[in-house]
Amino acid sequence: MIAHPLYEQTALFLKFARLPVTTTEKPPGFITHTASDEKAIISFANAFGPLGRGILTMRGKTQVEVPGTMQGLGLIKAEPLSRWAAEVFRMRVLLELWNTLRDDGPGRDEALAKAIRWNADGVQYVGPLGPQLIADRRMNPETLAAFKPGHLIAPAWRFLHTAINTELKKHALRAVLAGQDEARPYLAGQDEARLYLVPESLLGALWYQFAAAVAHNKHFRQCEQCGRWFEPGRDTRGDAKFCKPPCRMKFYRNKKQQARDLRAKGTPLKEIAKQLNSDIQTVKGWVKK
Ligand SMILES: [Zn+2]
Repeated sequence: MIAHPLYEQTALFLKFARLPVTTTEKPPGFITHTASDEKAIISFANAFGPLGRGILTMRGKTQVEVPGTMQGLGLIKAEPLSRWAAEVFRMRVLLELWNTLRDDGPGRDEALAKAIRWNADGVQYVGPLGPQLIADRRMNPETLAAFKPGHLIAPAWRFLHTAINTELKKHALRAVLAGQDEARPYLAGQDEARLYLVPESLLGALWYQFAAAVAHNKHFRQCEQCGRWFEPGRDTRGDAKFCKPPCRMKFYRNKKQQARDLRAKGTPLKEIAKQLNSDIQTVKGWVKK
């Protein structure tokens, strides 16, 4: 089966960036993965596929196998889970930086100060991804001149954009006209041509989603039924709690069943309402035969 994560999961990058990975205290920031992290990564890979083409290796436990790549001598193509963990970590750190930048509350400067630092020569990123120059009076004085000395927000945006661009550069996107085999979804019988951007790997698709979300300042919410991240107001109402109508129906069917089960055990209406995070009038409707 070919997965089309960009169409079916417009915010799959959020799920990816939230996969559990563990960073060690000693040495600081070293990324590792526990057995439960591994389980979550494998289950994501089973649902959405490998990140890319993988490397030639022996079949092993802590890896995601790229399907259909069995070679002679028992060799396969696979992606070590350590690579997955590193990719998850990088995206998560940048996602957190983006969220910090978008939150204009009083804690923003303090949070940014942990990642952006000024010195005599310019401004640097000093966060969890390791030290990197943002602007330096010798290397790129014109970039430095665009920042107000001591200010953190503009250099942080600059770093975020540059870091995402670095990832986009690694993972090719092809432009494809509809009607070609590669274009998905292919709408049979449609005579009007459309131009699609087709990522060549899942990881490329995830970085593209992230970049598009930054470019369009997208906001996402997690579906209360299935946990999928969706963009409220895109295919749903702006205040929607569910990603699609079947999720909404399933959610209320479950609530109704829970209410009836509780009622059958003699639980008072008020208590049911409290447990199901609802109100007495609604619960009355649910338990009515
Ligand atoms: Zn849903």
